[in-house]
Amino acid sequence: MKIIMLGAPGAGKGTQAKKIADRYGIPHISTGDIFRANIKNGTELGMKAKSYMDAGNLVPDSLTLELVMDRIHQDDCQNGYVFDGFPRTIPQAEALEEALRADGQSIDYAIDIEVPDENIVTRMSGRRACLGCGATYHTVFAPPKTEGVCDRCGGELTIRDDDKPETVNKRLGVYHQQTQPLIDFYQDKGCLAQVDGTKDVEEVFQDICELLGE
Ligand code: ADP
Ligand code: AMP
Repeated sequence: MKIIMLGAPGAGKGTQAKKIADRYGIPHISTGDIFRANIKNGTELGMKAKSYMDAGNLVPDSLTLELVMDRIHQDDCQNGYVFDGFPRTIPQAEALEEALRADGQSIDYAIDIEVPDENIVTRMSGRRACLGCGATYHTVFAPPKTEGVCDRCGGELTIRDDDKPETVNKRLGVYHQQTQPLIDFYQDKGCLAQVDGTKDVEEVFQDICELLGE
């Protein structure tokens, strides 16, 4: 099963993508997590990506596409994957379509998690992330068992550099301009599904499982 998660920054794409990946035994591919791991490890890709991310802009398509094309051809992707944060532009979506078509494949579901902008800033200001395993928490809506410590791997939880309110507003603008048009793109392909992302985490997941045919 090949799934794309769509939605504004902070809509809950990562939260739901991890649950889908666990339930269906497919890899969770977060381009944001891949960039952050590269920044942490001081790679050339990380150094190139950092200035764009810190400013709330998108990393150029050329850098993003190279890493995604490499990732989907790895062995663990044979039975599918769930993309989180990719594609984010029409050229990225077109490049993905072309790569899949070349392999005789297509996307099964593009799941758009709908959350109004007013809710996003609250979500982002409380977000805490584990740099070790990528797990995401919220101080109020999804707190870890022990404050500051990842339930999954025991790693330290941190505030993402790009979750400051001024950067969040910039990222929301970039989302509306460059990523939201993907909703119509996947609607036209016949694989769009929309869920109400203002419900709590488990309810949203239930709705997603239903649309995936459970
Ligand atoms: P995205 O991957 O779309 O940027 P995340 O999955 O990281 O978003 O979620 C953003 C923040 O909102 C996190 O702190 C997360 O714990 C919290 N969150 C996710 N889904 C919900 C929800 N349904 N209700 C309340 N908070 C949520
Ligand atoms: P995310 O973790 O999905 O919120 O992404 C964090 C940041 O990484 C974004 O604001 C972008 O700067 C960058 N990024 C992640 N995925 C992409 C992508 N598909 N295309 C361009 N930039 C991306």
